[in-house]
Amino acid sequence: MNKMNIFVGGKWQPGRGKEIESRFPGDNHLVATLNSASLEDVEDAVIAADVAWRKPSWRNLPPHQRAAILYKASTLIDEKCEELARLQTLDNGKPWAEARGLVMSAASTARYFAAVCEVSGGELPPRRHPDLMTISTYQPIGVIAAITPWNSPIASDMQKIAPALAAGNAVILKPAEATPLMALKLAEIFEQAGLPSGLLSVLPGKGSVVGDALVRHPLVRKISFTGGTNTGRQLAHIAADKLITTSLELGGKSPTIVLADADLDLAAHGVCYGIFSSMGQACIAGSRVFVARDIYDAFMEKLTCLTEKLIIGDPRQEHVHIGPLISPAHRQSVQSYVDLAIQEGGAIRLGGKVPADPALQEGNYFCPTIIEGLSNHARACQEEIFGPVLVVIPFDNESELIQEANNSVYGLAAGIWTRDYSRAFQLADALEAGTVWINTYKVFSISTPFGGFKESGLGREKGLESLKAYMQQKSLFLAINPQPNRWCE
Ligand code: ADP
Repeated sequence: MNKMNIFVGGKWQPGRGKEIESRFPGDNHLVATLNSASLEDVEDAVIAADVAWRKPSWRNLPPHQRAAILYKASTLIDEKCEELARLQTLDNGKPWAEARGLVMSAASTARYFAAVCEVSGGELPPRRHPDLMTISTYQPIGVIAAITPWNSPIASDMQKIAPALAAGNAVILKPAEATPLMALKLAEIFEQAGLPSGLLSVLPGKGSVVGDALVRHPLVRKISFTGGTNTGRQLAHIAADKLITTSLELGGKSPTIVLADADLDLAAHGVCYGIFSSMGQACIAGSRVFVARDIYDAFMEKLTCLTEKLIIGDPRQEHVHIGPLISPAHRQSVQSYVDLAIQEGGAIRLGGKVPADPALQEGNYFCPTIIEGLSNHARACQEEIFGPVLVVIPFDNESELIQEANNSVYGLAAGIWTRDYSRAFQLADALEAGTVWINTYKVFSISTPFGGFKESGLGREKGLESLKAYMQQKSLFLAINPQPNRWCE
C-alpha cells in the first residue's frame, strides 16, 4: 500500500513525522498509511500560511471572489458525495447514511459561508459629532489553527475551514490522528476549487506533538478547536499566554427531559436517535434522560422496544443503524464505564456488552445500552462516555428536575419532550445549555449558532456572526471638516 502524502503550504509531500494509520473500525483492516507531519512541516505550513494571507492577491480579493472558491468547493463535494461518504465510513466507521449526511452538510457549510461573506460588511456607528464620521470594518486575523476530532471529520473540518477562508485568513487543519482522510480530501477539493497555494495546509498527526507545536507557533493568531474538555482547557491556557482568541467546542452530558404529557412515541424515537445515532460518539448525544415517574414504565417499554430493533452491523451497509466504535481502546473505555455503572448500583436494562454475532468479532462493536437505577451523582451520569450508553433517571417534580438536569459541569445541549409549549419554554429558559431541542433532538442548521455553556465550550460556530469570530474589528475616524487641533498653541 502506497503511503499518502500530506498537504504542506500548497505542496503534496510525505510527512516527515511518525507513521500513522487509518483503520476501518468495522474489522480494523488497514485503509491507509501515511507519515504524520513533523515539527518542520508545522513550521513550513505556518510560514507559507503567513505569507499567503498577507499577499495582496488574497487580502484584496473581493468577497464575492473568495465566495466563488467556496461555491466551487461545495459543488465538488456534492459531485463526489458518494465517494467521500464511503471514505468517511472507512475512516471512522460512521454508518453510511450518516456519513452521507455529514458530506452534504460540509457542502452546505461551504455554500453558507460563501453567501455570508458576500453580504456581510462593516458598520457605520451613529455619529456623535457633526464633523466626525466613524466606520467600523472587519479584517482577517491571519493564520488560524483548526483542530478537529475523529467523530464527524468532514463536517467539523469544514465548519472551521469555510468561515476562516471566507473571512480572508489562512488555515492549518490538524485532523485527529485516527481519521486523517477527509481532511486530506478537503485539501484536494480546495486546491481544485482554485484556492491559492499556502492558504490551507493539512497536518495529520498526534495532538500532543503536531497540534501542540501548531497552536504554540507565534504566527498562529487564533485556535479553533473541537474535542475534549481537558484538551480545550489546555489550549485555552496556551491561547491566554499568547493573548490570542479561541473558539472551543467541547464535551457534553446532555440531559433530555420527558414530561408526563409528552407524546411517548415521539419522545421514544427522539431519545433513541439522540443517544444511539453515531453510536453515541457525539458531543451532543442525549446521554442522560430524566423521565416523569408517572409515565416512566410506559416510556421505558417503548424506548427498550425501539432500541432492541436497531440493526448492529457493517456500517457500509445501507440499513445498519449501529456501526463500530472508533477503536478497540475506545470500546474498552465504554465497557469500563458500563462496569463502573454496575458498581455504582446501576442495572442494565439493555445491552452493556459486545454483540455476540460472530460476523462482528473483528470490529469495535458495542451493543446499545440502557442503564437504570443510578442517581444523577453517579460518575456514569456525570462523565462523558462518548458511546452508546444511556442512563435513565425518573423524576417527581420540576424544580428538582431542573436542579438535577443542570447538575453537570457541561452545558452543551438539552432536549424537552412535552405537548405543552409554555412549560417547554420555561424549562428551556432554566436549562444551562447552548442548544435546547423541543420535541426533536440532534437536528442542526448552519444558520443557527452552536456552542456550549459552562465546560462545554467558548464561542459559537455557525450562524451569521460566526464569520466575525474569524475577523478583527478596526475603527476608522474621518474628519469631515478638518480643523487644526490648537491644543499645543
Ligand atoms: P477526543 O477525545 O475526541 O479524541 P481530543 O481532545 O483528545 O478529543 O482530540 C481532539 C483533537 O485535538 C484531535 O485532533 C487531537 O489530536 C487534538 N489534540 C489532543 N491533544 C492536543 C494538544 N495537547 N494540543 C493540540 N491538539 C491536541
